[in-house]
Amino acid sequence: MSTPTTVAADRVVLFHYVLKDEAGEVLDASGEHPMVYLHGHGNIVPGLEKHLEGKVVGDEITAVVPPEEAYGVIDENATQRVPRKEMPKDLDIKPGMPLRFRASDGRIATLWVTEAKGAWVTVTANHPMAGKTLHFEVVISGMREATADEIQHGHAHGPDGHHHHH
Ligand code: ZN
Repeated sequence: MSTPTTVAADRVVLFHYVLKDEAGEVLDASGEHPMVYLHGHGNIVPGLEKHLEGKVVGDEITAVVPPEEAYGVIDENATQRVPRKEMPKDLDIKPGMPLRFRASDGRIATLWVTEAKGAWVTVTANHPMAGKTLHFEVVISGMREATADEIQHGHAHGPDGHHHHH
């Protein structure tokens, strides 16, 4: 099997990136190791996945992704206050902390703490990057065909496909 070079569904793509907001402040970046993901399975924000489609190894890509194609727009009604006593006692609750719980439909949902003072904790369903237009600078550094396991699971198992996980 030859090594693929074009980003397409069911290929594992490696890339380095710097993510900035509209003011040019760095929000996130890949470190020494590239980001590894399975293309076409919604593992990265939709707007970036769209920009990477059809690109080749070595390409440098600048992608401006609006909130609607990233972490969503801010929903002003997604914030609520929860009594501190309803949360685990041993949990050191701090602003910015994600709280995962099982919703009534059985799905795992995430809320983020925005404030924790006294008897109340304020939480929001808005992702910390909601409402932000994301500016990505990406360099595609590698690629391979996904294994059958990865396609079935809907995610990459690391750069070489042999990583132990869940
Ligand atoms: Zn898996």
